[in-house]
Amino acid sequence: MFSSYEALFSPEHFRQAGHALIDQVADYLAQVRQSPTLAWIAPETEYQFWKETSFDSLTAFFDAVLARSIHIHHPQYIGHQTATVLPETSLASLVSGLLNNGMAVYEMGAAASAMERVLIEGLAPSLGFSAQAGGFFTSGGTLANLTALLAARAAKAQTDVWQTGQTTPLALMVSEEAHYCVDRAVRMMGWGADGIIKVPTNERFQMRIECLKPLWEAATAQGRQVIAVVGSAGTTSTGSFDDLAGIGAFCAAHDLWFHVDGAHGAALALSEKYRPKTAGLEVADSVAMDFHKLLATPALTTALFFKEDRAAYQTFKQRADYLLEETQDLEWHNLGRRTIECTKGMIVLKAFMLFKQHGLPFFDAHVTRLHDLTAGFSQLISAAPDFELAVPPETNIVCFRYLHPKGNLSALNRAIRQQLLEDGAFYIVQTVLRGETWLRATVMNPLTTEADFIRLLETIRGLAAKR
Ligand SMILES: *Cc1c(COP(=O)(O)O)cnc(C)c1O
Repeated sequence: MFSSYEALFSPEHFRQAGHALIDQVADYLAQVRQSPTLAWIAPETEYQFWKETSFDSLTAFFDAVLARSIHIHHPQYIGHQTATVLPETSLASLVSGLLNNGMAVYEMGAAASAMERVLIEGLAPSLGFSAQAGGFFTSGGTLANLTALLAARAAKAQTDVWQTGQTTPLALMVSEEAHYCVDRAVRMMGWGADGIIKVPTNERFQMRIECLKPLWEAATAQGRQVIAVVGSAGTTSTGSFDDLAGIGAFCAAHDLWFHVDGAHGAALALSEKYRPKTAGLEVADSVAMDFHKLLATPALTTALFFKEDRAAYQTFKQRADYLLEETQDLEWHNLGRRTIECTKGMIVLKAFMLFKQHGLPFFDAHVTRLHDLTAGFSQLISAAPDFELAVPPETNIVCFRYLHPKGNLSALNRAIRQQLLEDGAFYIVQTVLRGETWLRATVMNPLTTEADFIRLLETIRGLAAKR
């Protein structure tokens, strides 16, 4: 399959391949609008393609990869919450891929370890945190939420679960609209289905915080120790923000850990204009924030902030309190002690590169732009008599549906979504809210324009008329 093993490792081989690839990817970006957002292919067909096709050059190989992927840089990609990456940021992925610094111990990733600290310290004030705050980067919001909840357990459980295993039943409270990974985290920690107490939501899909007290009392009366409340800073379906200050006050009054799942929406704190949505974030004990959603960074890049840096060091420790008196246990640079990962790529590099090159103003501009575009889109929908918004959007997530006097609206909108998927010009998704199917669009691409939104609504009308 290859002619010269040694030549493959030569810098010249890499230089040639690399130059060609950069041109290829830049051409791809320049022409992305010329093809559909997605060419939908059945799973078996895709499998056969990758199994049977051989490629006579790297260029041919990457041509196939580019052609057969969903085009998030297409302005008509308005689907899931994955970032439209600022292209230059992918160069950091290239470098971290090549260097492959493992970060499990300090010297295996000295630069990236220091960058994590600088970036956490650089962003903490925007979240309203003081100099006591700290944190690190981890591989995705799912893992960040689990890690934070393990820290919460170490801090709040009456027994030393890490040492003795679970002896008394534990629980947390979270809105019924929370991301499913919170439910998974609870079950992975062995708390079972009763360990997750789902708090009902109001008509805007926000936690009804007046329900916290009775639910907490009921769980306590049954002998469960509630240790935390998880607030959603941007629910996944509708992007709704819980009343973070209200939850924080409840947690303070009942000695509970307050974790904010801000995987999607904590980034609004980086926008001067939209920061007020995140009010109350500053009282959280921990906050998860994905860069690979609203912050134009390749996946997976997630920051996990702790209001008190020290709290993070207890997670994977027995009898944390007295050990922590010893200062060597607070070595910030031994990141592997605080993360679930052992080997962890230089995941911070992409976000740090943005931060160093363009500073906080870039993050501000990006978040603001996406939300301004969303406001325009939602106005178009409100003004159209044949469309309906599920809720006024609080983030860049818009849930809406096409209205028709006759027939079942869920079935109609499901059919519209399926047709959009197969046509491929636009990529949007769907969600179920209170038992009904809605179309769901997330404005991720700063190059999407009002004309794209207008075309989307027109396309939907056309599809509905053909039925
Ligand atoms: C996306 C998301 C997650 C999961 O994060 P990953 O980075 O995909 O693991 C968790 N919670 C919320 C609110 C999210 O939007």
